Amino acid sequence: MKWRENAGCISYDPELFFPSGGAEGTAKQEMFALSICRDCTVVLHCLKYALTARKEVGIWGGKTEKERREITKEWQKRTGQTKQTGIQFTEEFYSEISTYV
Ligand code: SF4
Repeated sequence: MKWRENAGCISYDPELFFPSGGAEGTAKQEMFALSICRDCTVVLHCLKYALTARKEVGIWGGKTEKERREITKEWQKRTGQTKQTGIQFTEEFYSEISTYV
């Protein structure tokens, strides 16, 4: 994935993007990681990758785990997809992905 060469997080410890532990420390870590994503030039590529690859853990594409779950649920609802049918992100979704960041 060539976009990763331009990742804003490339010079940071990857663990920063996987907050865990105490609530306050986690929130601070999460906010710091998200601030790096905000300035990232490949944020859309990253979010698309994370959603398509079903990355459930960590911060990807400037979104927390919870935020990505909400995006997925919203898309499922709009398209009538269920866990049983599987979740497919279409070109329509990808063309609108910038509205999520
Ligand atoms: S959006 Fe965030 S996690 Fe994704 S490449 Fe950029 S800095 Fe890294």
